Amino acid sequence: LVRLRSRLARSNSAVGKGLLSLLSRDKLDEDTWEEIEEVLLTSDLGIGPTQELVEALRTRTRVLGTRTPDELRELLKEELLKLVDPELDRTVRSLREDGEGPAVVLVAGVNGVGKTTTTGKLARVLIADGRTVVLGAADTFRAAAADQLETWGDRVGATTVRGAEGADPASVAFEAVRKAKELGVDTALIDTAGRLHTKTGLMDELGKVKRVVEKQGPVDEVLLVLDATTGQNGLVQARVFREVVDITGIALTKLDGTAKGGIVIAVQRELGVPVKLVGLGEGADDLAPFDPAAFVDALVG
Ligand code: GDP
Repeated sequence: LVRLRSRLARSNSAVGKGLLSLLSRDKLDEDTWEEIEEVLLTSDLGIGPTQELVEALRTRTRVLGTRTPDELRELLKEELLKLVDPELDRTVRSLREDGEGPAVVLVAGVNGVGKTTTTGKLARVLIADGRTVVLGAADTFRAAAADQLETWGDRVGATTVRGAEGADPASVAFEAVRKAKELGVDTALIDTAGRLHTKTGLMDELGKVKRVVEKQGPVDEVLLVLDATTGQNGLVQARVFREVVDITGIALTKLDGTAKGGIVIAVQRELGVPVKLVGLGEGADDLAPFDPAAFVDALVG
């Protein structure tokens, strides 16, 4: 948590500082509200949430009258927290409560967003929690991706199932779930292919992976990995994926590399599912459950 705060704060506190200094002005005139809106938009919050927040801040500062810096800070935190929706269930469904076979987690995303890394780190988190994991390297179009995942598997103590280069991703995913059943592990974590050169190609692949896996039982979680530094582009990707599969959670990577923390709220809004995990660096320990309060603290300072 402390790490999350310091990582986020490094890049994000400028947003909070900017907002607080604007809100502290003697007179909150239209120009000031426009400036506030601009700060929010440049933090990738998106138009809808920006307008909601500005509206709430207008009302509350009006009621407040004179404003101390501490009051403003608290007020801003409260309103941002509402937008992040702290009530959403953010647990990654990695355990079947009924014990009926392994929970199946599909990890999807466009190449380069940090999908394989996130899969490996998630395996590490689960294993540190006492779970057992099989990794499925269903990104068969890049031999390097399977190698990378297998390296993670060896490092964290998970069996990795992989196919030959160019093998059918769905067959590898199927085999990974079969293996997970055979070994009696808790979770099958499947890294899927992320080619987005043709939208239909990706749709076919990912959709097929899910359908084939479902022959052995339900898919419990579909995590979409998005790169926080790509801003609106990430939202475009999210829309494409949403057409193919029901996404159940978002893993937002590279949040350490952006000052645009508003993207967390924007993607949640866009997809209607919570950000469950955040990537805060390249290290093995740099994947954290998303903590709304800590996030807002880091944002506002
Ligand atoms: P994939 O193509 O989506 O599977 O992407 P990879 O998992 O290979 O990751 C691409 C690059 O992003 C690698 O250099 C990772 O170390 C890096 N990366 C992944 N997650 C994060 C993160 O949260 N923060 C930072 N700074 N880098 C990350």
